Amino acid sequence: MAHRVKYRWISQDGYIHLGFRDGRIVAEHRHVWECAHGPIPGGYQIHHRDGDRTNNKIRNLEALLPQDHKREHCGHWTDQDGRWWKRCTTCRRPAPEDDFPTKRYRDGVRLTRGNCKTCERDRQRAKNGYQGCFEKNLGLHFGPRSAGRIP
Ligand SMILES: [Zn+2]
Ligand SMILES: [Zn+2]
Repeated sequence: MAHRVKYRWISQDGYIHLGFRDGRIVAEHRHVWECAHGPIPGGYQIHHRDGDRTNNKIRNLEALLPQDHKREHCGHWTDQDGRWWKRCTTCRRPAPEDDFPTKRYRDGVRLTRGNCKTCERDRQRAKNGYQGCFEKNLGLHFGPRSAGRIP
């Protein structure tokens, strides 16, 4: 590394930061990526492939556009053809994004329900059969019990 590092610490957001002798502070993963590839292109974010924010080996770092980065963190991945896949939260089978019924977009990111076509159909059937129950469960998950918990 070309710069003289004076301090190295993990900040509250879980990223390792470096403090240089000249007073500059940078996130280590960004610094490592830039040492290998040059300045990070505008708008790109550096992603940790294995999800470990302190693993700043260059192999573990990848420059992604924000919308792709968000997808990665939602458990999506791309195949060789650049198609996005994700795993069904119910049957755990991987399926192309197109096989997930809900297609909404927020900030350019495709939002899909966690269920594949088959599981979503089953869920709809169950929901229509036991509507009262479903409402009650919603209350449990999103009600006061889960609100205001101190992390
Ligand atoms: Zn990331
Ligand atoms: Zn499924």
